[in-house]
Amino acid sequence: MKALDELTFDNRFARLGDAFSTHVLPEPLDEPRLVVASKAAMALIDLDPAVAETPVFAELFGGHKLWAEAEPRAMVYSGHQFGGYTPQLGDGRGLLLGEVYNDAGEHWDLHLKGAGMTPYSRMGDGRAVLRSSIREFLASEALHALGIPSSRALCVIGSSTPVWREKQERGAMVLRLAHSHIRFGHFEYFYYTKKPEQQAELAEHVLNLHYPECREQPEPYLAMFREIVERNAEMIAKWQAYGFCHGVMNTDNMSILGITFDFGPFAFLDDFDAHFICNHSDHEGRYSFSNQVPIGQWNLSALAQALTPFISVDALKEALGLYLPFYQAHYLDLMRRRLGLTSAEEDDQKLVEDLLKLMQNSGVDYTLFFRRLGDESAALAVTRLRDDFVDLAGFDTWAERYKARVARDGDFTQEQRRERMHAVNPLYILRNYLAQNAIAAAESGDYSEVRRLHEVLTRPFEEQAGMEQYAQRPPDWGKHLEISCSS
Ligand code: AMP
Ligand code: MG
Repeated sequence: MKALDELTFDNRFARLGDAFSTHVLPEPLDEPRLVVASKAAMALIDLDPAVAETPVFAELFGGHKLWAEAEPRAMVYSGHQFGGYTPQLGDGRGLLLGEVYNDAGEHWDLHLKGAGMTPYSRMGDGRAVLRSSIREFLASEALHALGIPSSRALCVIGSSTPVWREKQERGAMVLRLAHSHIRFGHFEYFYYTKKPEQQAELAEHVLNLHYPECREQPEPYLAMFREIVERNAEMIAKWQAYGFCHGVMNTDNMSILGITFDFGPFAFLDDFDAHFICNHSDHEGRYSFSNQVPIGQWNLSALAQALTPFISVDALKEALGLYLPFYQAHYLDLMRRRLGLTSAEEDDQKLVEDLLKLMQNSGVDYTLFFRRLGDESAALAVTRLRDDFVDLAGFDTWAERYKARVARDGDFTQEQRRERMHAVNPLYILRNYLAQNAIAAAESGDYSEVRRLHEVLTRPFEEQAGMEQYAQRPPDWGKHLEISCSS
């Protein structure tokens, strides 16, 4: 366990130089204070959890203090936003403070979001508000606990600094951890600005640091691209299987590591709805829940375009062709497990699709349905769940197929079945209304609800005594919350 001044830095991205990022110092927040910290995230960099409570912790992650070895940099990138190319984006309000490595030799980027203006701030103020920082923190840690690849969050630091959005709010910072903050948009930037040398340097950097095993392949860049395709397909399969809607799948928000990245107006589904749009400025539903799958491929094509200097078009196309099969295999595997099945049959895809159609038409709670399905034997569970459906005849037909399928799957005790199903079907999910409750309390200075919700969500599969209220469907006010896109 380390104290704060014992972190060891190795700033590999900073060493790429000024073509890739700009040196910028964080702009401190007034009266910085700890809102919430993640012990699990602290452990990733060997930090003693006790240091979160010390004043210097809030000073460091509130922009007042800096390690001598830190080299804070704003990264430059570009990207396709809602389908159109924006030639220059970059860290407009976040800084890569540096890269630290833990005792196991793993490197982690320390990225401070909300750290003030940079050369890439465009019209923005460089700040992040408390509400969006809490949402990013909770989502990062909740997704990770569900087994969905994600950037992590070390802490949220609140402040008295006024920040103007639709109304006056308070500024905050979130400290994000990831093995890399390189996005698809980094490659696009150097491709479209026609800087082949830097583009090659970036590709070498990513290959050496993040995909070293691809070096062994006859075509290392192609092997790396294939790996990026597969990781993204797997990540999106998990989003779909757990009902996570990202909301802003622009290529500047897509990580080259295939982790969920840059949380905005995201939402987990309450009622199952394939057409759900969580981003209210997404009028055409480009990033609706079910569109996330083809958009994943669209984004990978945008990355492929930027990689044409290194990889032949035919090879890129072939690799892109792997996306859907990868996606389907991961998705179906997870959905089978959510249904409690241990074997594979050809009709399983149809069994899943038909269930989702029934859920869609009846507004069934996506998370609780699967949890309850494992509570009791298949026969008892479907009898109880039947009441949630409007199309009873349709559900009965499905239930008969499901029971027959479960019977063919093998001879398991209900105890075994429950254990297996509860290990993949969460009881607690980051519902928008739960986040909203925690944010409302935090905005009035009470951080206990954020901390409790975070605790509950770190063990989403385990029933926790006294936490029943976190496993409920939303009350009426919480059903269709309009989450502000400003952040
Ligand atoms: P996002 O939609 O949060 O992924 O942000 C898109 C781009 O806008 C990125 O380049 C951000 O750094 C930048 N940006 C977002 N909010 C702000 C802000 N308040 N100040 C400066 N830049 C911002
Ligand atoms: Mg972004």
